[in-house]
Amino acid sequence: MEEQLKIACGVFGAIDLQKQPVFPYIYWGLRAQNHRGHQSHGFLTYNNGKFHVYRRLDLVQKIKTNALQEWFGRLPGHIGIGNVRYTTSGKTDEKSLIKGTQPVTASKNGLKLAVSFNGNVVNTLQLKKETMKEFPGFSYECDADLICHKLLAELTKAKDLVSAVKTCMQEIEGAFSVAGITKDGEFFAFKDPYGIRPLCAGHSEDYSTYAFSSETAGLDINGFERDFEIKPGELITVSKDGFKREKLVNDRRKAFCAFEFAYFARPDSRFDEKYVYEIREEFGRNLVRENSDIVKNGDMILSLPETGNDAALGVHEESGLRWERASRRHRYVTERAFILLNRERYSTIDKKINILAPKVKGKRVIVTDDSIVRGDTTRVIVEKLRKMGAKKVYLFITFPRIIGPCFYGIDMATYGQLIGSKRSPKEITRIIGADAVCYQSIKSFIKATGFNRDQLCLGCITCKYPTPLAQKIADEMKKKFLEGYEETGRLYEIAETVEKA
Ligand code: SF4
Repeated sequence: MEEQLKIACGVFGAIDLQKQPVFPYIYWGLRAQNHRGHQSHGFLTYNNGKFHVYRRLDLVQKIKTNALQEWFGRLPGHIGIGNVRYTTSGKTDEKSLIKGTQPVTASKNGLKLAVSFNGNVVNTLQLKKETMKEFPGFSYECDADLICHKLLAELTKAKDLVSAVKTCMQEIEGAFSVAGITKDGEFFAFKDPYGIRPLCAGHSEDYSTYAFSSETAGLDINGFERDFEIKPGELITVSKDGFKREKLVNDRRKAFCAFEFAYFARPDSRFDEKYVYEIREEFGRNLVRENSDIVKNGDMILSLPETGNDAALGVHEESGLRWERASRRHRYVTERAFILLNRERYSTIDKKINILAPKVKGKRVIVTDDSIVRGDTTRVIVEKLRKMGAKKVYLFITFPRIIGPCFYGIDMATYGQLIGSKRSPKEITRIIGADAVCYQSIKSFIKATGFNRDQLCLGCITCKYPTPLAQKIADEMKKKFLEGYEETGRLYEIAETVEKA
């Protein structure tokens, strides 16, 4: 439960073949996925060859019923895409955040394109140069701009979507799950050749509406049925006959982000047959099997809501220990916590979670949590539990130790910010002040997901990245980091500068 850790984006898009307004679907699709990005959000609809756009900072706002007509007027059309975003590329000042809000658009030689994107580009510097040449005056705000302009440039050359998307898949390195609309009203979605980020497809009960969503929760909220998870290197278009699937690139291995299972995805979403919460329960059972000595010494389980809850149930089922529901999230505090007075160092935790002191006093507590990134929040929680009188604090962490940065859209882009990048589990236990920090093993983690090892990206926990440039930057920067170099920004954005220095 690291306060600082954020995912890049959530994507939703829909088309209504009976030409009914699509905005309500986009709206609810984004509301269901606001956990994937809360710095900004945007809607874009297509009507008679025109794009209609609405972009704002913060969470997707509530809409009053009596304001619905106003929204239909503002965002007319039967095709639309939307995005919730947390920035992992570009600047983060307010002006830049507004400029980088998606969906983004680009136009050239009478062609026009709009895209909503989730992921991260690794060969940013090369693509930026290329785009500036192709589009004089191009100003980079985020990776979605790069994807949109690259696709448009290829579309201008190739004149057909299939060839343009195929070139993007071959020439862009990174994670990209994209939904988009062309000037002619062609509605499409595609994924990078490794399929790093999620994107699924579904339809309404009467088959009049077809949609793309980062998570199945975005389909569920609209009452849609899930059809399939888009495959790596696949382009999907929609016609009156439904989805058309075309595999454009097939020579690479799948590398779905392992961290989606532990932290980012909603527990009620699914990427394959199992729901995420079922996988997290199995993570909990695995932690008991792997740490039987500690379990023997425990008195109770405490979860850090919400991502710790499912694992806590698994720990409870496997160990028989009581899961004391003594930590609860303050339901309506959703914004980032700030401290009004500087007296209480635990304030940031208190603003979000209420832990009941009498329940932990004198107890040997097993705390379930999803991950440790910087370790600052975890350390404060352990201190707080000790202050409340806990006799022992054992941490059961479902995601294996994070030892390397992410290049594919998760906000942990340097070695320096990761406590696990140069500390052993024993040292981490000491720094955090716990009696034990028990990470789930990589082997058990993989087994619980139901995926094979070669179908997952495990980059941040193994330092073996699925794409070549990411591996090269990671290796070179790790060497520099261990030699004492201080990273001044996200590795994929500073790599070339550092190389030249
Ligand atoms: S490096 Fe880690 S967080 Fe990033 S995509 Fe791979 S598994 Fe996910």
